[in-house]
Amino acid sequence: MSPVEQRVCSFCGQPLEPGTGMMFIKKDGSVYYFDRQRCQTSLLYQHRLGRRFKWTKHYPRGGAKAAEEEIRKQQVAAEIAKAETAEKAGKKAPAKAKR
Ligand SMILES: [Zn+2]
Repeated sequence: MSPVEQRVCSFCGQPLEPGTGMMFIKKDGSVYYFDRQRCQTSLLYQHRLGRRFKWTKHYPRGGAKAAEEEIRKQQVAAEIAKAETAEKAGKKAPAKAKR
């Protein structure tokens, strides 16, 4: 006998007991698994983000605000890095001058 595939709820991250829950396939082919109606409604009809709800496993440890701040910091750092690389490229080829 082959082992049953372990699936996880697409919204809350809770593992599904084999034989329970439901599988939802969108027209575009993406597959979602849900353990309960609450998760299905939240994801498909209310367009919620799992990381913003305390009852999901995706909720960050420090709270939603702290996590969003961290993401913002990472984005700023990425932009700085991008600007630096662009600057280096600009030094090599100074054809594109600022107007
Ligand atoms: Zn769920």
